[in-house]
Amino acid sequence: MQSWRRSGVILIIALAIVGIVLLTGASFQKGILGASTPDDTLYQYSTIDALMLGLYDGGVTMQNLTTRGDFGIGTFDRLDGEMIVLDGMVYQARADGTVSQAAPAHTTPFAAVAFFDTDRSYQLNRYDNLSSLTSTIDTLLPGENHFSLIRIDGTFPAVKVRSVPAQQTPYPKLEDAVKEQKVYTLSNITGTVVGVWSPAFVQGINVPGYHLHFISADRKSGGHLLDISTDRATLSLDEVAGLKMDLPTTGDFLTADFSGNQSAALGVVEKGTAPAR
Ligand code: ZN
Repeated sequence: MQSWRRSGVILIIALAIVGIVLLTGASFQKGILGASTPDDTLYQYSTIDALMLGLYDGGVTMQNLTTRGDFGIGTFDRLDGEMIVLDGMVYQARADGTVSQAAPAHTTPFAAVAFFDTDRSYQLNRYDNLSSLTSTIDTLLPGENHFSLIRIDGTFPAVKVRSVPAQQTPYPKLEDAVKEQKVYTLSNITGTVVGVWSPAFVQGINVPGYHLHFISADRKSGGHLLDISTDRATLSLDEVAGLKMDLPTTGDFLTADFSGNQSAALGVVEKGTAPAR
């Protein structure tokens, strides 16, 4: 009788332990799953420094890229224009000012995409230039040390974009290639700013800070954003805490020398200032 009672007590303790393990296990698993949904990962192909060094051969197709995200930016094989990925469509803004949909087999040497889910949105009023606009976005970013997808929809009094023409081998460095950039100013244009905020620690891998492109609502003009003024616009932000990268497995990437610091040259390339001065 005593041993029966003892077994009963042991059984109850054992069940209690199993219950505690199951409960903690469940909440732990929930936390892990919550942090790893596909929507929370930026997918990037190659590195910004590879592009800086003139590695412009495409390695990932649009067909593949769009399985990794429906929103993002990049460029095309041979540096043939600026890439805008919006609502799952890939657009190519060429230096001649035209925009077309990129073919599924077209390739990219550098791109970053993710699935856009709006975390927060804000109404923006009047901003006279890009730096005053980004100063405000600075205060709205969920955090500087995660990626944020940035989408701004509206009708803009002025948008200044650039694109770069396709390059021939041997490829020049990016800071030389952008000397051939074509700049377009679009007036009273309805469209969307598509871009990414990246933390400071991505230096060498991606562009620290804002990297923004633009495409018009009629999908006929766009490019890498150099300046913008706003009247009324909607800003949507999507915080992204994950990063997945694929690196080129063939070509010059394997032997390129990445030991140099490209930050200063990158600043010139992104702002598009030096060639114009
Ligand atoms: Zn760009």
